[in-house]
Amino acid sequence: MITRIDLRGRALDGSRSSTEQTDPRALVPRAELDVETALAVVRPIVEDVHHRGEAALIELAERFDGVRLTAVRVPEAALAEAAEALDPRVRAALEESIRRARKVHADQRRTDKTTQVVEGGTVTERWVPVDRVGLYVPGGRAVYPSSVVMNVVPAQEAGVGSLAVASPPQKEYGGLPHPTILAACALLGVNEVYAAGGAQAVAMFAYGYRDAAGTVVCRRADLVTGPGNIYVAAAKRLLKGVIGIDAEAGPTEIMVVADATADPGVVAADLISQAEHDPLAAAVLVTDSEELADAVVKELEVRVAATKHVERIREALGGRQSAVVLVDDIEAALVVANGYAAEHLEIQTRDAASDAAKVRNAGAVFVGSFAPVSLGDYLAGSNHVLPTGGCACHSSGLSVQSFLRGIHVVDYSRDALAEAAGLVVALADAEDLPAHGEAVTARFEDREG
Ligand code: NAD
Repeated sequence: MITRIDLRGRALDGSRSSTEQTDPRALVPRAELDVETALAVVRPIVEDVHHRGEAALIELAERFDGVRLTAVRVPEAALAEAAEALDPRVRAALEESIRRARKVHADQRRTDKTTQVVEGGTVTERWVPVDRVGLYVPGGRAVYPSSVVMNVVPAQEAGVGSLAVASPPQKEYGGLPHPTILAACALLGVNEVYAAGGAQAVAMFAYGYRDAAGTVVCRRADLVTGPGNIYVAAAKRLLKGVIGIDAEAGPTEIMVVADATADPGVVAADLISQAEHDPLAAAVLVTDSEELADAVVKELEVRVAATKHVERIREALGGRQSAVVLVDDIEAALVVANGYAAEHLEIQTRDAASDAAKVRNAGAVFVGSFAPVSLGDYLAGSNHVLPTGGCACHSSGLSVQSFLRGIHVVDYSRDALAEAAGLVVALADAEDLPAHGEAVTARFEDREG
């Protein structure tokens, strides 16, 4: 079912200059995501929402989500009702998930820092939250109340003043987003929620919309964050600049680096857990033990047959993006892991903590056999909105930092500027921008006479 790739005896190179033959990303390719085609689909959707606002959102919900809405904004009463009706077990789990995430994200807050550059001259870096964010919570193939927590908690801990959530309308709930999503919003104190999915939700946040009477219903947001499918990703690419975006969080990925000490049943269960998300999900085992590889393949067969979303999982594990990769040793496995830059990287080796310390590229690292990705998905306290598609080599997952901007505040005295004036003029002249220098010297001109 799953491809086997034997890299034993091969020279591997995890650096950016690696070749087709040595590049882990080429050797274990991700699923083909045809973003160009998706961009062509998304462009008219975005235009439509921009120009026709709510009327377009209602028509697009009918077309893509199969339900006719009367309004896109979810009434606040529906949020309270969903929280009231929430299964107590789910409520307790969500509350604990929120508590743990808050603990971790509160520690990410930044403090302003003032640097004395010279006598009389300071630069202060002030960390200021964005004014308004749109948070996307997927709801196509599966619904993700956990993604409400992962989006909202860092935004709240950053101090964002205005938060709105969008999630696809669900036919079986009369066009409202899934009730557990509404309940999660209520538990977090979010009362601005929209029944909008895919590209149209991103466009809604980028442009805002008015009702038929011309009253603003949804104000445009400064930033949109959250995971989603290829249409969400394509809309973010298209609208970048009109609105700020986070890193692309596409089909989920798990890479497990394991040696002969790992439990094959546990490794197989973890690979399946992420394959369950999406037929395009990537599940990759990298090991130096042929025995473990064989045992994991056997376990996969048994466990996949016994689980619920068999078809989706089979497609994901059978796709070219999933593989069991054999390498010479764990050092080579870590070269593969660093070159691949997985969204989720599990280290199940004899010296898991010291091997994990060698990881440079990953969205999140899970150390040892008692830190499965599923824990991180829901309850570890870490964030589960993480960079996919190799973006972990340059981007981080969602955090308080994602919602902050560092503003430099420059404060120089007359004497401190006078001391720097000649240097500014020299650089301005070197760039042939003399007016820059004149803006400094003007302050010291004798205008009296
Ligand atoms: P989604 O909410 O992202 O997309 C559903 C929406 O897609 C629909 O409402 C519709 O508007 C739009 N759509 C569907 N078909 C379309 C078409 N043919 N043309 C235009 N628009 C169309 O939900 P999903 O599809 O289940 O995808 C969720 C994705 O998010 C999965 O890939 C999952 O793995 C990923 N995810 C990632 C993370 C992470 O942190 N990386 C977390 C959770 C989910």
